[in-house]
Amino acid sequence: TTDSFGPQGGDPLLRDVSARIAQVLREGATLARLGGDEFVALVGDLRQPEDVATVISRIRGALSEPFKIGGQEGFVTTSIGVSMFPSDGRDLDTLVRHADTALYTAKELGRDDVRYFTPELNRRAAERLVIEADLRRALERGEFTIYYQPQVDLYTRQIVAAEALVRWNHPTRGLVPPGAFIQIAEDSGLIVAIGHWILKEGCRQLRAWRDRGIQHLRLSFNLSPRQFRDKSLVSSVADAIAGAGVDADQIELELTESLVMGSADRFEAGLRELKGLGLSLAVDDFGTGYSSLNYLKRFPIDKLKIDQSFVRGLETDSDDAAIARTVIALARSLKLKVTAEGVETFGQLEFLRMHGCDEIQGYYVAQPMPAPEFERFVRNGLHGGIWSRRSAGNR
Ligand code: C2E
Ligand code: MG
Ligand code: MG
Repeated sequence: TTDSFGPQGGDPLLRDVSARIAQVLREGATLARLGGDEFVALVGDLRQPEDVATVISRIRGALSEPFKIGGQEGFVTTSIGVSMFPSDGRDLDTLVRHADTALYTAKELGRDDVRYFTPELNRRAAERLVIEADLRRALERGEFTIYYQPQVDLYTRQIVAAEALVRWNHPTRGLVPPGAFIQIAEDSGLIVAIGHWILKEGCRQLRAWRDRGIQHLRLSFNLSPRQFRDKSLVSSVADAIAGAGVDADQIELELTESLVMGSADRFEAGLRELKGLGLSLAVDDFGTGYSSLNYLKRFPIDKLKIDQSFVRGLETDSDDAAIARTVIALARSLKLKVTAEGVETFGQLEFLRMHGCDEIQGYYVAQPMPAPEFERFVRNGLHGGIWSRRSAGNR
């Protein structure tokens, strides 16, 4: 991946990359560029299958050195997928397809990784294709629905917001959680249309609640990287807000850390344009990726959401507790709000309140739920039910 160099840096960088790979391949190997930033290396004459590991580590070694493009130094990450002749395929087509499947998994696993093709991978790839085909029809068939999970203000003790979490009501699979299809929607580009529907439907629902007397509720939406890169995003958000007649300051967008930081310079303008609509921006799953404090300061971000993996260990793991305290302190000094997600116990709530966290979200308050149920939940109010250890016993 060549993100850190920006659009102009692309071509010379690809030349350097291919030159470095070519250098470490033996005579008789073939290197080709498939387009984009994908290369295929055909390596024959291996004495034993294990020798491919040596080739791979040489390639990774060569690409781990910094690159210099236009006076700027930077690094690339390398994902590699491997298929072997004859066990994984007897013709070029099959071999390349299977290597591609393995590459796909390598990327999924964090981009800087190597994967070998296996029949299990192949089965999953086939499954993905089926899901993608179903996904293409899901929108027009009205199979998506939104669940709402409350966010509670720890000072005022009120339900102040909800996060919109999409669900897919699949005709045979039942209710499919986003973890099982968002990535596929992202890779196929379908997320742009699906995301637009979620924004529209969420804003419509927010307006309906307002008309029925539930005022001042904020609604937050998750944005995936592909949506963020799409040119129509700003107008899609603006249309959803205007179309439903809600106020922009009732809307929050959640972006992931890697999205915000990974492509910092290129997307700063995009962030500012979104922010210009008058909504608020949150960094989701904060603490799981890399953040540059400099960017946090510079970007128009309003809030950090502490990832649930740190919240889980608050009472038992001193590292998690330290991380949570640090994120809260960081947010305070940068004048950002901070929400903790995945709060499941009274003890976690208590810890977060003691250390100055603004809002919480999690099963301890409520699971995500369909709109009518959420409305009842808000009308009933929290009554003190979650605010003492005793009442927490029945949760
Ligand atoms: P997220 O944005 O970090 O959302 C929080 C996830 O944690 C949700 O899972 C929620 O149900 C779950 N959760 C909330 N409280 C607790 C708790 O106390 N304990 C535990 N163990 N889990 C809790 P969900 O709904 O399955 O969503 C998973 C992810 O899918 C979301 O993570 C978000 O990244 C993505 N996603 C969901 N809806 C959308 C959407 O409309 N668009 C996009 N692009 N992504 C979405
Ligand atoms: Mg979220
Ligand atoms: Mg999260």
